[in-house]
Amino acid sequence: MTNPIELRADCTRCAALCCMAPSFDKSPSFGFDKPPETPCSNLDGEGRCVIHADLASKGFPGCVAYDCHGAGQRVTQEIFGGRSWLAEPQLKPPMTRAFMVMRRIHELLSMLTAAQALPLDDGERQGLNALQNRLQPSNGWSEELLSTAPIDDLAAQIHAFLRSLKRHVSP
Ligand code: SF4
Repeated sequence: MTNPIELRADCTRCAALCCMAPSFDKSPSFGFDKPPETPCSNLDGEGRCVIHADLASKGFPGCVAYDCHGAGQRVTQEIFGGRSWLAEPQLKPPMTRAFMVMRRIHELLSMLTAAQALPLDDGERQGLNALQNRLQPSNGWSEELLSTAPIDDLAAQIHAFLRSLKRHVSP
């Protein structure tokens, strides 16, 4: 199966989901505690970070390091049709739920995509394709499908599969 899914973040098509959905704790990576499903207080009313140019120096290197692997724009555009919790605050819970699962799906897809470059044998390549397909339902993801996705099981299977490829990357 080809992989047409965007695995690179495009913040211009996202509703600032990474600054609303996840929680973070005050630490060397973040300057204060933020609960889940809650807009960061550094976010302006249009979904822009007011300290974006100085994140690391202002105590938020975790925001610089964070990568949604393209899950943000996908949830915003594909699952919610371009709607945003910024204009419709009632969307915070469902957008959070969808983003937190989609972010894991895209992280797993990114790892499998990287593994495609390894010199896999036929069995390994079939295994990789099968796992990719499980992360890409034929009719696409919906809110409902995301809410029942067995993401922990999928992640465990994919991590085990990737560990089985270790011989391709070890000296
Ligand atoms: S500090 Fe800026 S980039 Fe980090 S979560 Fe808050 S608004 Fe988003």
